[in-house]
Amino acid sequence: MLASFKHKLAVYFLLLAVAPLTAAFWGFGTIAKHAEERQVDSRLGAELRAVFASYERQADHVKAVARSLAGHRDVQRGLRLGSFGRLPSDVTIAGPHRLVVGRRGTLESTQTVTVRAGRRVLGSILAVLPLDRSLLRTLRSDSGLVGDDRIVFVPRSRLARGRLRPLASGRPLAVSVAGSHYRALATGPLLDQPKVQIALLAPTKAIAAQTAATRRHLLYVLLGGLLVLAAIAAAEGRSIMRSVRELARAAEAIGRGRLDRRVPVRGRDEFADLAGSFNSMADQLRTRLLELELQRTRLRESISRTGNLLTATHDVDQLLSLIASAAVEAADAEGAVLLGEHGAVIEVGTLADDAKTFELPVATAGSRFGILILYAAELDEDNLLATRALVAQGANALENARLHEAVALQATSDGLTGLANRRHCEERLLVEMARSERYETPLALILCDIDEFKAVNDTHGHAFGDLVLQRFADVLRATLRDIDVSSRWGGEEFLIVLPGTTFPGAIEAAERIRTAFASLELESGGATVQMTASFGVAGFVAGVDSAELVRTADEALYEAKRRGKNRVKAAAETTPAER
Ligand code: GH3
Ligand code: MG
Ligand code: MG
Repeated sequence: MLASFKHKLAVYFLLLAVAPLTAAFWGFGTIAKHAEERQVDSRLGAELRAVFASYERQADHVKAVARSLAGHRDVQRGLRLGSFGRLPSDVTIAGPHRLVVGRRGTLESTQTVTVRAGRRVLGSILAVLPLDRSLLRTLRSDSGLVGDDRIVFVPRSRLARGRLRPLASGRPLAVSVAGSHYRALATGPLLDQPKVQIALLAPTKAIAAQTAATRRHLLYVLLGGLLVLAAIAAAEGRSIMRSVRELARAAEAIGRGRLDRRVPVRGRDEFADLAGSFNSMADQLRTRLLELELQRTRLRESISRTGNLLTATHDVDQLLSLIASAAVEAADAEGAVLLGEHGAVIEVGTLADDAKTFELPVATAGSRFGILILYAAELDEDNLLATRALVAQGANALENARLHEAVALQATSDGLTGLANRRHCEERLLVEMARSERYETPLALILCDIDEFKAVNDTHGHAFGDLVLQRFADVLRATLRDIDVSSRWGGEEFLIVLPGTTFPGAIEAAERIRTAFASLELESGGATVQMTASFGVAGFVAGVDSAELVRTADEALYEAKRRGKNRVKAAAETTPAER
């Protein structure tokens, strides 16, 4: 791509510089040729005037010689008598009354002088000027002609034979004589010889040589100019190519992730503007990327921290406040309110009245835990997306906590009565025994058994039996403290652990339970059924193990049954009433 741009620049240079220079060379060359021709033409004009003036002087001289002869007495007498004595060498006799002055030639110009005596014509003298080589030499030296320019007489006869084109007087033109080319300028036909013109010929060879020399000079000047232009264009081109290359390399580097790469800004032209814009674009890109990186790191940390926290606890309230604060952080919000399903309200951060609010349900596919209301001046779409993911994670944690709670409840409670099951009760008993031993606090047990339960089952049905069990459990819950552990020990048998309760206190509690249960009126098929239960009470003494303690209570219960049921029996051996 760069190479082709370089080539394009070179082509533009050729088009913009070389083509006009070539045209200029051709144009100036033509002008030079015409100028040279004009110069030759004007020289020919001047020379022709001088030659013609010289010719007229020669013709006048011959005529003057004839006139002087005409005034001579011997000549007048000779013409009158028709007989001449001795005559000058250049005078010949042409007839009885006619003399000729000058040598006769093939081409000549003649003038006639009439010889008179008073009014009488004696004869005539013909003044002859031969148009020959000798005259040409005279004309040449007389008019001061120099160089290769030639004087020629152009006779009509030749024109007639077509050897020369007729020359218009005063208008120069190109002619060709014996294979040589000339620029020619001619006079009009001569007055005393209308069949002849005088012409001046300048060889075109000289014109061509001069034009070629001018063209050569022009060529040198143009080539010099072209060299200077090429040098300037090459320097400019190099500078442009360097700018383009730098931009391309920087763009490539930035594309590869090297966002610190910048382009040097030189001068104040459009390339400098482009480089400046490119650099500021790179700056913005880098800043934005750093921001994004920071945001991503923050979000990642927040999500991972929250994720860890969410899995670390099964406390629903703690989870709700964790979700609210993590959502505020992820959404870059100012505050949030989480309205729990069971009326819990958790507030985090600032809740400005003029802030925008955005509601997100805290829910899984199967359960709904509440609604989160975010407060923010502006909510970014990306942040919102991350917040949604986080809240969804939180909802899953809440779901897990709920399941965990249910499983824990199942593991420790009895399904029918909701009381602790036997295993859980055994564990709690061990814990309470250890606490009692360590802090020397009292601890007592009550073991109860519903009387004649089999008969009730048989008479009123198993469902009614279940109801009786549940009502008994209700009585336990209503009568006992929260810290007491009531459990279904098996069938219609219940074990109650009473931490911090003395033996007599336990007997009193058993009595309260017995009375409350006995006074219950249960409905079965329109009839009112009343039930009773028997109780065995044992107090804990340090050193006794749990099985022993339960057995003691059981023995007391057996004793209560044996004595007629519906009563409380305190164990005999372990009766440290004063403890
Ligand atoms: P006693 O007065 O001597 O205690 O006699 P009882 O009939 O209460 O005692 P027994 O041990 O003879 O009978 C207990 C009955 O309790 C037997 C059993 O069918 C019934 N039972 C045990 N668990 C349940 C239960 O979960 N639901 C119901 N409906 N009956 C149960
Ligand atoms: Mg029983
Ligand atoms: Mg029973």
